Amino acid sequence: MVFPHVFWGEDLDTFGCLSGNSHKRGEFFLFYSYHTVSGGPVLIALVAGEAAQAFECTDPSTLLHRVLSVLRGIYSPKGIDVPNPIQTICTRWGSDPLSYGSYSHVRVRSSGSDYDILAESVGSRLFFAGEATNRKYPASMHGALLSGLREASCILRATRVRQNNPRKCIQKNVGPSNDILLDLFRRPDLAFGKFSFIFDPLTEDPRSMGLMKVTFGKSCSEFSSEDSSKKDVENSCQQLSNLPLQLYTVLSREHAQELLLVPGGDESKLSYLSKNLGLRLMGPSALGNLGYSLTASIANARRGRGKYRISAGQQNAV
Ligand SMILES: Cc1cc2nc3c(=O)[nH]c(=O)nc-3n(C[C@H](O)[C@H](O)[C@H](O)COP(=O)(O)OP(=O)(O)OC[C@H]3O[C@@H](n4cnc5c(N)ncnc54)[C@H](O)[C@@H]3O)c2cc1C
Repeated sequence: MVFPHVFWGEDLDTFGCLSGNSHKRGEFFLFYSYHTVSGGPVLIALVAGEAAQAFECTDPSTLLHRVLSVLRGIYSPKGIDVPNPIQTICTRWGSDPLSYGSYSHVRVRSSGSDYDILAESVGSRLFFAGEATNRKYPASMHGALLSGLREASCILRATRVRQNNPRKCIQKNVGPSNDILLDLFRRPDLAFGKFSFIFDPLTEDPRSMGLMKVTFGKSCSEFSSEDSSKKDVENSCQQLSNLPLQLYTVLSREHAQELLLVPGGDESKLSYLSKNLGLRLMGPSALGNLGYSLTASIANARRGRGKYRISAGQQNAV
């Protein structure tokens, strides 16, 4: 917005406004003063999250009316008159075909680990850069640039490893716990469709946590034997594209049962997983400490089960 004069104060670079309505908390929550940058009395109002999506399809005159009432709500009580702007522009980054969005936004219930998940490469052959993959410097130019340098170095490393030893390149890039995970998932405690589950055998508590694996590309049954995986690897690295994509999440026994009962096929269950259970799929390396400790405790418990069998909640030596 270009105003006839700087009514907000020459010394101010930025100011914010908290909305009383939680649904509108992203609407005109931040203002940038660009009068020092542009040389004129320019004020930029920012819109984020759900409010930004609504903004894209709202009439500009309605939006102008709303932003002016926010500004007047701030300045009128101070006795400062907010004039009508001389010129306004409504950007629509989401529908602009040259951008399709502006930058990442952390929703309620999302966290920094979502940035790490977005940064995960797929089987050393598909790599992701961009500000939304940079947990440390998101929503910025330098975050985007640094993520590009990070991925360029990952690609170089993967290429070198592949050239030197095609077999090793697969093993090296799937994470340290993947061998154990693959081994544990060879005998899942529960499996249906693309989904398989492992749980701590020492407890039946519905709230106890376990791991779920989802296999994309080939079904679990088509890709269950060690031999077929070895054969793929030995043939050549080009066959990497034939390998299935396996993603994981941590969930409780009761959530696994809930998922089993979701009507419909794998697509409905995947949608339920994210929309109703709020769970995200990730590669083994993004499972974090919880994933590592669960993997270790399930592996230990299974090993112990060779010597001990659980009966009626008691451990008896066999
Ligand atoms: C108004 C505004 C002000 C900002 N001010 C600052 C600032 O002062 N300082 C700062 O550091 N950062 C600022 N940023 C943020 C910064 O611009 C972004 O963080 C950065 O550009 C992100 O770079 P990127 O490469 O991750 O994504 P982008 O630059 O968004 O690049 C993504 C590209 O993918 C393309 N694309 C999208 N969908 C598809 C598809 N389906 N198929 C093919 N291509 C597709 C898009 O067209 C786009 O070219 C600002 C952003 C905005 C919108």
